[in-house]
Amino acid sequence: MSIAQNIEIVKTNIEKACIRAGRNPEEITLIGVTKTHGADIINEGIAGGLSHIGENRVQELCEKYEEIKKGVHIHLIGHLQSNKVKYIADKVDLIHSLDSGSLAKEISAQAVKKGRIIDTLVQVNISGEESKSGIAPEELDYLLEYVETLPGIKIKGLMTIPPIDAGDMITSRKVFEKLRILFEKKKEERYNNTVMQHLSMGMTNDYEIAIEEGSTIVRVGRAIFGNR
Ligand SMILES: *Cc1c(COP(=O)(O)O)cnc(C)c1O
Repeated sequence: MSIAQNIEIVKTNIEKACIRAGRNPEEITLIGVTKTHGADIINEGIAGGLSHIGENRVQELCEKYEEIKKGVHIHLIGHLQSNKVKYIADKVDLIHSLDSGSLAKEISAQAVKKGRIIDTLVQVNISGEESKSGIAPEELDYLLEYVETLPGIKIKGLMTIPPIDAGDMITSRKVFEKLRILFEKKKEERYNNTVMQHLSMGMTNDYEIAIEEGSTIVRVGRAIFGNR
């Protein structure tokens, strides 16, 4: 299978999941996760129909950035350290891994320096696994309130990664459902600088389940680019 064929298969699976869930496929953004792959492979993905790509490491993104075809939307999906924000502040369209007030403050400061506003998603650790990054659901209000004071950052939704051992699909589905319930609750509340628009959940093993549970952004690597 070529990368373009894999993208077609994933898009078809997204459509089928939408039909099962009574949703419109246009609500779903497919991110091709390109970590570990070189710019040539990434550009093949773009030519094959990807308009969004995701990288999880700042250094790796910066190394490949100049060679990646312009115009594609770039997502930072991995854990982000405050001291690295400056390297990507002019490169990314959406940061999925906002997980602290201090990171929000630095993203805002770097965005202001670049004369822009950076969109983010709050990463929430739904399962409570200690190894997972992301804030606890109880910490979300504090972060939303804090971001009201920052001029260079917007929160556009929530993101989660289910526990690694959730080869068990029931666990993933529960995690996705819990995030959606939290998302819908926060959507009703009003905060400056926050619009609850996106739910980033679902990867190669579980993107169809995530769509059935309300995901609007799926982050798919291996099903498109093969095993890493
Ligand atoms: C690697 C990665 C993905 C993609 O995982 P696949 O199993 O290859 O689809 C999605 N989200 C994050 C945060 C990742 O690090």
